[in-house]
Amino acid sequence: MIDVLDGEARAIDTHAHQPTEEFLEDAGGQMMQDAADKFGAEMEPGSYDEMVADYREAGVGRAILLGWDAETNTGNPPVPNDYVAEVRDEYDDFFVAFGSVDPLKDDCVQEAIRCVEDLDLSGFKFQQIAQGFDPSDPQHRHLWNTIEDLDVPVVFHGGNSTLGAGTPGGRGLKVKYGNPMLVDDVAAEHPGMDILLAHPAFPWEKEQLAICQQKGNVYMDLSGWMPNYIDDQVLHYARTILQDKVMFGTDYPMIEPEPWLEQFAELGFDESVQRKLLWENAEEFLGL
Ligand SMILES: [Zn+2]
Repeated sequence: MIDVLDGEARAIDTHAHQPTEEFLEDAGGQMMQDAADKFGAEMEPGSYDEMVADYREAGVGRAILLGWDAETNTGNPPVPNDYVAEVRDEYDDFFVAFGSVDPLKDDCVQEAIRCVEDLDLSGFKFQQIAQGFDPSDPQHRHLWNTIEDLDVPVVFHGGNSTLGAGTPGGRGLKVKYGNPMLVDDVAAEHPGMDILLAHPAFPWEKEQLAICQQKGNVYMDLSGWMPNYIDDQVLHYARTILQDKVMFGTDYPMIEPEPWLEQFAELGFDESVQRKLLWENAEEFLGL
């Protein structure tokens, strides 16, 4: 466990997926296998018991578990919101559960309301490239108004995606939907919605930093990239002017907490900044 944690599991991972076949095989399908092949990652399903034990050993006490519904665009079944809620209930001192609704489905607004009011989910996750939609398109305003009224935070994917990597046509997925500038429109029109842009948004990190600086309601996390590969300017902003806005995340099971935290500690950020990035900012964002 890294020094700043003082032997306690207090870090909060803002970006974790299911290590089970519901995510890796069913929802991920062939596009997930492409990513694993391309980056040499192992995609053997694991258990939640192992996952939570590994996290606690690394010094992480909470993780946001994300739902996934990109059924209309990909044809793959969702990770059902009821399932995400069940896992949360089983490990309710560990997981914070975020649901997913497919903005291209007719019932997305009703499903968003059900997620919060019936399942008690704590927020939403969108993956615009997999879901194949432009968040700035006025056709989605009703959904954003509803989520703003529900008063829960939202994670939007930021940057390119490895899904479908290396295949002809990238399995039809469009990288442009990962541009954080499309989320800037949502943030401007819904100032009551707290937004977390997931991942250093390669190749639009500068746009992402500008948005996080200009919009009080937009934050970002460092998930999806090992610290040694994160853009220098992102690291510079994280240790200076955006130190109250940047959060720790992995993208489990693609990246595991212990190696990420060890590499992060090597960067030599001030301990006060490490505390903000590893748990204080997330506690505030999530209202924990
Ligand atoms: Zn992810």
